[in-house]
Amino acid sequence: MPKKSWRPMPIASDLLEAAREARRHAYAPYSNFTVGAALLTKTGDVITGANVENASYPVGMCAERTALYAAVAHGHRSFEAIAIVGPEGVALTPCGACRQALSEFGDLRVIRERQDDVPLRDLLPDAFGPRHLARTGV
Ligand SMILES: [Zn+2]
Repeated sequence: MPKKSWRPMPIASDLLEAAREARRHAYAPYSNFTVGAALLTKTGDVITGANVENASYPVGMCAERTALYAAVAHGHRSFEAIAIVGPEGVALTPCGACRQALSEFGDLRVIRERQDDVPLRDLLPDAFGPRHLARTGV
């Protein structure tokens, strides 16, 4: 588990700025559709990610999951919010795969440019999750 930190929680505009900064590191030579994400943990840490494409297209990874998996790899399991930023003028929202991946760790606030913040549960209602596996004993 990461050490507890007692920094003040970033506000939405701070998280969007962190996502913008992360977007600068996106690797998207095929689509030129660069995305950045900033994931706020419940301990106040901000873990960023950017999309990473690959010549084998399906191998690419979204910014949101890049941030999520990096956060998990560093011991985080509880999240407050994620901010995502795409190309200028694009009102971006997480893809279905990212919604599912994020929902594994519970609900969080999704902060998007030019749109209202929304709870993840509103973007992926009745999500498949660990409770479904528990019924079968898997
Ligand atoms: Zn995605």
